[in-house]
Amino acid sequence: MKKYNVESFNLDHTKVEAPFIRLAGTVDGANGDKVHKYDLRFKQPNKTFLKMPVMHTLEHLMAENMRNHYENVIDLSPMGCQTGFYLTVFNDDNSENIAEALEKTLHDVLEATEIPAQNEVQCGFAKSHDLDGAKNTAQEMLDGKDAWHQIFAE
Ligand SMILES: [Zn+2]
Repeated sequence: MKKYNVESFNLDHTKVEAPFIRLAGTVDGANGDKVHKYDLRFKQPNKTFLKMPVMHTLEHLMAENMRNHYENVIDLSPMGCQTGFYLTVFNDDNSENIAEALEKTLHDVLEATEIPAQNEVQCGFAKSHDLDGAKNTAQEMLDGKDAWHQIFAE
C-alpha cells in the first residue's frame, strides 16, 4: 500500500478494535519539545459511528473539561469519520496518563447539566447538540475502559 503523509491513512482500520487509546504520532520540535497525537477511538470503524450532535457535545465538554485534569492538552478535535477524537498534547507519550485524564473527563460528561459555549456567539452550530446522547456515549466508553490499551483485535 502507498505510504501516506497522514499517519492514520496508513493504519488498517479493519484490524483495530474500539474502544482504544492509541499514540498516533510524535513530532519533535526544534527546541526539544515533543508534540504527540492520540487517537481516542470510541466507535468501531465502518461498523458504527457517533451521530454529529453527540460528537459535537462530547467535543465541547471534553475540550473544556479535560484541561481541568491534564495540563498538557493542545487540542481535542472530532474525527471526520465520526468514530472518535484526536487529542494533541505536548511532552507526554504515556497513554496511561491520557487514559487517566480521559476517565475523569468522561465522568464530567456524565455529571454535566449544561453544554459549555452552546450559543451562537461561542459556537458555529449551536443548535446541533445532544447532551443525553453524549452521556450515553461517555458511559459506554467508560464501560470499555479495561480495553482502552488494546488497540488491535486478537
Ligand atoms: Zn460547537
